[in-house]
Amino acid sequence: YTGQTPFTLLSEQIQKMEVRNYQSLPVVAKESSSAYEAVCTMFLEDVGSLFVVNDQGLLSGVLSRKDLLRTAIGSQDMNHVPISVIMSRMPNITFCRSDDAVIDVAELLISREIDALPVVRTKGDGLEVIGRMTKTNITKAFVELARGAAE
Ligand code: ADP
Repeated sequence: YTGQTPFTLLSEQIQKMEVRNYQSLPVVAKESSSAYEAVCTMFLEDVGSLFVVNDQGLLSGVLSRKDLLRTAIGSQDMNHVPISVIMSRMPNITFCRSDDAVIDVAELLISREIDALPVVRTKGDGLEVIGRMTKTNITKAFVELARGAAE
């Protein structure tokens, strides 16, 4: 007998869930893209956030729906506003890595009040975007855990 309660078994199982098994493909945009192009990309790719990369292909920011709405209700022309001026920018970007725990990502999404974060790996002195973790990925992980536990 291990002395473990069902609760400690469950929390251990939760701690073991890694981002790599739940992440989705990222949708990225270049800093020079216009706000108008970003709206089109969000529609076509069916995502709520775009990860923005610089000329070297490294993470430079995150653009959300609200960033675009704020721009849309302003007086600027969406065709002439580059997303680099309306996105949230490094180093203020919350990100994670493939070997991080899903539960830690869930806590970040709650504490930072965001919907998504990029999964990255180090490349030179920057970060390469390799995936995406969103509230939907967390929900899927939660359902899988519950279904698995019920078997
Ligand atoms: P929405 O705008 O659709 O509600 P979010 O709640 O994710 O989406 O975004 C709210 C704000 O937080 C936006 O200004 C956005 O740029 C910023 N943001 C979103 N994701 C991140 C992130 N991973 N790191 C830093 N800032 C972010």
